[in-house]
Amino acid sequence: MGGHFAIAVAAGIIGEYWLKVIHLGGAADKGSISPQSEESSMKEQYAAIIEAVGEDLARPGLVDTPQRAAKAMEFLTKGYRESIDGIVNNALFPSQARDMVIVKDIELYSLCEHHMLPFIGKCHVGYIPDGKVLGLSKIARIVDVFARRLQIQENLTAEIAHTIEEVTGASGVGVVLEAKHLCMMMRGVEKQNSLMRTSSMLGLFRSNQATREEFLDLIRPLS
Ligand SMILES: [Zn+2]
Repeated sequence: MGGHFAIAVAAGIIGEYWLKVIHLGGAADKGSISPQSEESSMKEQYAAIIEAVGEDLARPGLVDTPQRAAKAMEFLTKGYRESIDGIVNNALFPSQARDMVIVKDIELYSLCEHHMLPFIGKCHVGYIPDGKVLGLSKIARIVDVFARRLQIQENLTAEIAHTIEEVTGASGVGVVLEAKHLCMMMRGVEKQNSLMRTSSMLGLFRSNQATREEFLDLIRPLS
């Protein structure tokens, strides 16, 4: 009994966090600042950074770099300007299937919110439909919406899982993320081979050990 209570409390905390995420997403969608003014202000700030590191902005190789870097940063954070509704639109299909659906090895590119350096890896998603299935490519798109923001891997994992649960009404969702963090590889402890693995298990994936094990078994690399 104690265990169930602990899980319920944890779910409550995650639920609260989740509401905040949705709220923030909504605010970002309204886009009070136009993308163009964002890009030109980013361009100026990249120019300042380039000068601050001791470079010569007039050097031919760097002339267009502030502009390019601003464009790249806009792309890498485009998740703030996308909505889940827009992505899922028309791709939810009625289905009687009750078997686990797995999408494995979804490429993942994100930026850590502590250093704004990339973390790169793979995302594995499983869910058990309860009346509806989601178009496969949409699962990858949902991963991207949250990955293309400033993130920590733990929150990214939970956001993907809760969104898939919410959108599909699945009776269980499991998400596993494996990523290498350039902030660990290029700086700080300079550890090249450490891989961070995070998981978020909801519904049957949390309450039923056999379901969770089936999922973990199915996403294991084929040897
Ligand atoms: Zn970092």
